[in-house]
Amino acid sequence: MLLRSQESNRLQHEYSMNRRFASSIDKNHIGQNLTFIGWLEDFRDMGKIGFISVRDMTGNFQGVLTGELLSGLREIPRQSVIVVNGTIQDTRAENFQVEVRVEKVELLSRAINPLPIDPTGRVKSSLDNRLDSRALDLRNFKISNIFRTRSYVLHLIRKFLYSKMFVEVNTPKIIGTATEGGADLFGFEYFSKKAFLAQSPQLYKEQLTLGLERVFEISSYFRAEPSHTVRHLSEFVSVDLEAAFLQYGDIMDIVQDLIISTINDLYVHYDKQMAYFENKQDIMVDKIPRITYEKCLEDLKSLGEKIEFGDDLSDPALKKLGEIYSKFYFIIDWPTKLKPFYILEHDKKSEFSRSFDLQYGYLEIVSGGTREHDSERLKNKLLEKGLNPKSFSDHLQTFEWGMPPHSGCGLGFDRFIMILTNSTNIREVVLYPRDTERLSP
Ligand code: ATP
Ligand code: MG
Repeated sequence: MLLRSQESNRLQHEYSMNRRFASSIDKNHIGQNLTFIGWLEDFRDMGKIGFISVRDMTGNFQGVLTGELLSGLREIPRQSVIVVNGTIQDTRAENFQVEVRVEKVELLSRAINPLPIDPTGRVKSSLDNRLDSRALDLRNFKISNIFRTRSYVLHLIRKFLYSKMFVEVNTPKIIGTATEGGADLFGFEYFSKKAFLAQSPQLYKEQLTLGLERVFEISSYFRAEPSHTVRHLSEFVSVDLEAAFLQYGDIMDIVQDLIISTINDLYVHYDKQMAYFENKQDIMVDKIPRITYEKCLEDLKSLGEKIEFGDDLSDPALKKLGEIYSKFYFIIDWPTKLKPFYILEHDKKSEFSRSFDLQYGYLEIVSGGTREHDSERLKNKLLEKGLNPKSFSDHLQTFEWGMPPHSGCGLGFDRFIMILTNSTNIREVVLYPRDTERLSP
């Protein structure tokens, strides 16, 4: 029966104190009277008897109703929030160990009918429609699993980096000078000045090695690139590291261990969630190969793709490389001219830089390298790249305070999650993506 308000208060108190979760009931609970809260996912009305499927954050349970309760249920639209109280009993249903013989139902919050999308996924919606109703989209387990996995991976990354003696920092996202040069910054009025949204924490994290040695930052960054791809957003999350006294090879070791330990942990502790993504065999690795940029050019040549030394690897070229090196691989020692001013070149072969990208197939996940730590040479590098050292005076002065040799990288967190969750579009793994078209919700 649907309850009147006095009884309803009692039930509300009861459920907040004694609420059970769908996944927590089994045959040991048979005969017990228990209370649940959740969303009415499904209602099968057979006339004299009805079955409901109710979802909470742990899963679904089945309830059986008859009589007055059944007619009450007919008034409740799917996806409304209900409180269900009843006795646990054995079931003949295939997907459940037990079911709830429903004794009380209360409607807590009504959902409109029809909803803009079907969160069960039975009626398919386009990604755009789903993003327009993202909060509702998360009621689909497969989708919410992406974001649970995302959250767990953040936890794993932090745990891993602490174990390597890194300190988490927070640097400003409102900045006064264009960090790395380049035109892809969002600018805005900042009181009477012009300010920008940070495209990376590059300069700050380098400076912080001077006092903290090893730092990392996990944050959103902003790029005003009008890209229309499945891997670029205007706002994305990056995991940035920077470490004093390490070389780019050491950073690659750290990245490799981070990737392998994250994937292994997911398959041990997150096996159920990972099963949804159906990519187990593909992403497991035990070592990540390091291939020079020059070797990539040779490989590409043998595949009929001619790239001149010094040219960037185009999308079609990266797709071809992705066929040879299908999982994770590093491309190392990029031409100096392709890398930003702060990357150190090799001593004897200055046309090559001490840099790497981590790829997964065609997708770039990480960029990193050994940094220039000499202030005079850094000034020259700025000039060579057409940048004005005066705009970098705050940064350059720190290089005269005993700047340690240092290296680091930035890992595109959303792209990493794409791989872990077998998603083909970055928008699938970002709650509220921002791109050239999308600014809301
Ligand atoms: P790409 O060549 O794919 O545009 P990038 O070389 O410009 O990337 P970096 O400046 O090296 O990017 O940034 C470090 C990492 O941050 C990249 O390897 C990528 O994983 C991620 N990243 C960069 N730009 C974006 C973006 N617009 N959207 C999502 N992730 C990004
Ligand atoms: Mg890069």
